[in-house]
Amino acid sequence: MLIAFDFDGTLSDSEMTVLLGEEAGVAGEIDEITERAMNDELSYAESLYARAELLDGLAADRVEAAFDRVALRPGSADVIDALASAGHHVAILTGGFERGVEKALSVEGVSVDTIVANRLPIRNRKLTGHAEGPLIEGTKDDALEELASEVGVGMDDTVAVGDGANDLPMLEVAGLAVGYEPKPAVEPHCDVVVSSMAELRELFERRNVL
Ligand SMILES: [Mg+2]
Repeated sequence: MLIAFDFDGTLSDSEMTVLLGEEAGVAGEIDEITERAMNDELSYAESLYARAELLDGLAADRVEAAFDRVALRPGSADVIDALASAGHHVAILTGGFERGVEKALSVEGVSVDTIVANRLPIRNRKLTGHAEGPLIEGTKDDALEELASEVGVGMDDTVAVGDGANDLPMLEVAGLAVGYEPKPAVEPHCDVVVSSMAELRELFERRNVL
C-alpha cells in the first residue's frame, strides 16, 4: 500500500514557517498569515508566498537553526518504521520544507520512501524571500495520484493522513482518509479521526495495514 502523511500538524506538532519566523523575529506576522489562510481569506499559495517574503534576508545558519528545531511527534518514528517493515511505500507530502523534514527524520534515525515538499531558495547565504516547489500551486491529490501510479498502487490501496485544509484534496482521493486532530473544516471529509500516534497505530492494526 501507499501511505501518505502530511508533516506539520500531523507527523510533527511544529509549524516550520513559525519556527523560521521566530529566527527572523516575525513569528507574530507569520502566525497571522497562517490564521488567515486557515479561515480561507488567503489561498495556500498566497499565504506561503507572503510568509516567504517575510523571511527575506534570513541568514542560512538561522534557517538551519530553525530546521534543527523541527521534531517528529512521539510515536511518529515507530509508526513509519512499522509501515516500512510491513512493506508499504511511505511518503510525506508537505507544504513545508524538505530540509526541515529530512533533519527531523534523521534525528530519529528513520526514513521514508518519498518526500514531496517545497523549498526556500538561498542566495549569498540568505533566504531570497521566494518559495518554490511542487506543493505551492500544486495540490496533494495530484501528488498522491502521481505517486500511486509511479509506485504501481491503485487508489483503493492508498491511505492519506492529514490535519489541514491543504490536505483535503488528498483525503478526498485516498482509499482511506485519516484525520489527525483535523481542523473543523477537514473533519467531515475524514473516514476516521485519530488524536495520537498510538491511536493511528491501532487503526492500522485494525485495518490490517499493520
Ligand atoms: Mg498540516
